Amino acid sequence: MIVDRNQLSCAEFQAQLPELIGSGENAAIHPHIQSCELCRALLADLETIAEAARQLFPIVEPPDKLWEQIESAIRQERAVHEGC
Ligand SMILES: [Zn+2]
Repeated sequence: MIVDRNQLSCAEFQAQLPELIGSGENAAIHPHIQSCELCRALLADLETIAEAARQLFPIVEPPDKLWEQIESAIRQERAVHEGC
């Protein structure tokens, strides 16, 4: 069955919405949002919740410091063995 993205029902669209937001796609430009006030309001609510969640649980930065520590530990380990 081919589903026309322009003719999703609200239930179908809302089922896709978490995935859409999760994938980093701009859900606000989705054709269904453009034509459906109900889902536009829902998206606004979801974005408010998502924004609040981001502030509560900030995304952890890549652990560069950790890698530096691991690398220097390896280097020290090597230096010890070379010293033998
Ligand atoms: Zn809708």
